[in-house]
Amino acid sequence: MLDDPREAIADCLRGLADTLRHHRDLGVQEIALSRVPFPDPGDALRAQEQALQGCTRCKLSKSRTNIAFGVGNPRARLLVIGEGPGEEEDKQAKPFVGRAGQLLTRMLASVGFDRDRDCYIANVVKCRPERNRNPEPDEVAACNPFLLAQIDTIEPQVVLALGNFAAQTLLGTKEGITKLRGRAYTYRASILVPTFHPAFLLRNPGQEFKRMAWDDLKLCRREYDRLTAGS
Ligand code: URA
Repeated sequence: MLDDPREAIADCLRGLADTLRHHRDLGVQEIALSRVPFPDPGDALRAQEQALQGCTRCKLSKSRTNIAFGVGNPRARLLVIGEGPGEEEDKQAKPFVGRAGQLLTRMLASVGFDRDRDCYIANVVKCRPERNRNPEPDEVAACNPFLLAQIDTIEPQVVLALGNFAAQTLLGTKEGITKLRGRAYTYRASILVPTFHPAFLLRNPGQEFKRMAWDDLKLCRREYDRLTAGS
């Protein structure tokens, strides 16, 4: 999606416009030209979530019950990004709380990550696509400034991208997850590790995919340990 640098610039400007409108809606009168408008990432995320309430920027707003903005530790060094909320996430307004979420919790734990303590978890789109279809390009574009704001607030060392959709959207490629996984990529100010989506692993219970996911999780752990060493 971002193969054309003009698209990347347009994306940044849309993000900037959304941030400025968001600050205006919060009653901010002056633009402080310091890097961090909210010194506490928890406050910043709460303000972003608040600004999304009642969002009608895309057609997912018509069928959603709740917005599932994100969960976890705002100071986490590991950011986990999935595709979009499912049925349970739509009900509970939280990402990854259904069956795939339970498997995700176990996958993270298998390499020593505590989901609540070590991770922040979000999705590319914050509202459930009906019948869990893939989000459409206009829906991804509408939510993108909020995803980028989350990423830039948390400033993760490592991003774990779950499944085709998250990996392709974040890396701006059409390459499938089977090709993308198995290595780490530079992504904004962090390192991105793509792996299979837990829902895919639930649908394909064979050992082969599990073993590859395990390798990816170990890579994610190694990158995390390398980048957080001494901090
Ligand atoms: N699948 C996702 O991609 N995200 C969720 O939050 C739940 C299931």
